[in-house]
Amino acid sequence: MTPIGVFGGTFDPIHYGHLRSAYELLQDLRLSEVRFVPSAAPPHRGGTFAPAELRYRMVEVAIADQAGFAIDDCEFRRDGPSYTVDTLTTIREERNDASIGLIVGMDAYLGLTTWHRWDEILDLAHVIVAHRPGWQLPETGDLGELLARHGTEDVEDLHRAAGGLVYHHAVTQLEIASTEIRELVGAGKDPRFLMPDGVRDIIVESGCYTN
Ligand code: ATP
Repeated sequence: MTPIGVFGGTFDPIHYGHLRSAYELLQDLRLSEVRFVPSAAPPHRGGTFAPAELRYRMVEVAIADQAGFAIDDCEFRRDGPSYTVDTLTTIREERNDASIGLIVGMDAYLGLTTWHRWDEILDLAHVIVAHRPGWQLPETGDLGELLARHGTEDVEDLHRAAGGLVYHHAVTQLEIASTEIRELVGAGKDPRFLMPDGVRDIIVESGCYTN
């Protein structure tokens, strides 16, 4: 059972930090694909900066040349806040026996217990935490308990079970943040080399972070 990676985010904009992590996981964990799921209406944020359709387009352009990278518009086909639990339910319905791994960065993982119906996520998928080398997952509190009950250190377990495990993996952490990209574009600078050129072109041509 080759796991499908599901990588959600606002991607406002997508950048090489996201892409490099996803690529390392694709190879290291031997995933069948990494499915990028841009959030249409992220519940944790007051709003996004670039409109949803433009964020979607930037992801589409960023992943176009990479075999094994795909984009999923399921959050654009629903109304209301884009909850991860609903996205995983949709993907699970499509691929009922597949192994599915929800990919999150450490910052997202640390906020997991605030997510809508978070305790149902492991019924639907594994959680794969991508973190910088040397970091540890929390061993106390709700996340500590989650790790004690669901944690595995063996990547093969992700290929054996369809979901239900928490696995962490060190990836090269490029110190790039969407927030900083928006700020530098807002200050009139060029974001080139922080993201694929096609994404940079969309930002420059649309002026989506200029005002
Ligand atoms: P912002 O600066 O707007 O908060 P962000 O990049 O942190 O942007 P998202 O686009 O929602 O926010 O992030 C999607 C996922 O990518 C999250 O799981 C996050 O942890 C992860 N991520 C964010 N930045 C990086 C990076 N530089 N390297 C690897 N993963 C990242």
